[in-house]
Amino acid sequence: MEQADRVIAKTYKRFPIVLEKGSGCTLYDTQGRRYTDFVAGIAVCNLGHSHPGVIKAISDQVQTLTHVSNLYYTIPQVELAAWLVTHSFADRVFFCNSGAEANEAAIKLARKYFNERGEKSRFRIITMEHSFHGRTMATLSATGQDKIKKGFDPVLEGFDYVPFNDLEALRSKIDASTCAVMLEPIQGEGGVRCPDAGYLKAVRQVCDASGVLLIFDEIQTGMGRTGRLFAYEHFDVAPDIMTLAKALANGLPIGAMLATDQVAEAFGPGAHASTFGGTPLVTAAALEVCKTLVPGGVLNQGREAGAYFKEKLRWLKARHETIVDYRGLGLLLGIKLAINGESLVNHCLQRGFLVNCIQENILRFVPPLIIQKEEIDALIDCLDEIFTELENKSE
Ligand SMILES: *Cc1c(COP(=O)(O)O)cnc(C)c1O
Repeated sequence: MEQADRVIAKTYKRFPIVLEKGSGCTLYDTQGRRYTDFVAGIAVCNLGHSHPGVIKAISDQVQTLTHVSNLYYTIPQVELAAWLVTHSFADRVFFCNSGAEANEAAIKLARKYFNERGEKSRFRIITMEHSFHGRTMATLSATGQDKIKKGFDPVLEGFDYVPFNDLEALRSKIDASTCAVMLEPIQGEGGVRCPDAGYLKAVRQVCDASGVLLIFDEIQTGMGRTGRLFAYEHFDVAPDIMTLAKALANGLPIGAMLATDQVAEAFGPGAHASTFGGTPLVTAAALEVCKTLVPGGVLNQGREAGAYFKEKLRWLKARHETIVDYRGLGLLLGIKLAINGESLVNHCLQRGFLVNCIQENILRFVPPLIIQKEEIDALIDCLDEIFTELENKSE
């Protein structure tokens, strides 16, 4: 840890543990302490750690072919794209290496789409306040949070922001220069904020009425996190472009941008590229993830665990006035606190639970989808104890 503090960039404030190995929803540090993981690498390891199927897929592929170039065809990449196309609204997939890169691709495609149609002045993208779309220059410009942009001015031109769940604000912001509306179906990083009933469907209608593209950032909500393969399925609405990353390969770096044929048409040879995008290695891992999620039943398991967990959070909120709200869908859950959540995270850590605090007062729970009821019960007991102690102290 001391060496890390000397040689690693200071961009992360780390907890003072060194994680060494993991299995399922359990992690072990170098002191041999065990933790139940309600972070899952921030909604990445949906199948849990050291998943046997993913290990086998990676091992087999690494002994066969790791990387060539997108100048050539490779089989796992095509199989993964075909799987994603079969299971989503989309017709075509562009592969890259992270969420930010997937969103970069989406932003570029939306602009290119109208450029190809001769509508060059139509390049602005409307995003939401409290959104999170990444840390590259374009994606931090798209992000509706000032703290992410601080110190990096000038940010990229061409983004407008409206409050999430505010249709009127969206309607009045759209004009002849708007090419797309981009949003997370459920805001993750911004505080596990869910859309109001009918909101996303109405956004689709507003976009259609003005010929504007709709982009869903499902980097956090995708791949079963909310109880459906993609969150948009809950809301009876489909986007024109969707981005994926986090859980797609259960921990190997991958990003994907999916689009309808009509929109994807705007990306011809040379329009966009990525050296590492969709290598045989990462796509073989992702394909295994996909096959385990859907026919394998982990998707349903996660949905049931999420319903159970949310009910437990409702129970917890009723017992503790420190909890202002509980919310989320599937296993993207959070509780909003009347206090700063940082010390709570440390209390949980000391008791063997990894949880995550965002926006200072929201505890986010995004465990692997294979989380067991007993593990959820144990966390709830732990939180119940911590809140009880806290509330007794402050009386
Ligand atoms: C994590 C996240 C990103 C950024 O992904 P990176 O892989 O860190 O670049 C973008 N959008 C959403 C919704 C995310 O949760």
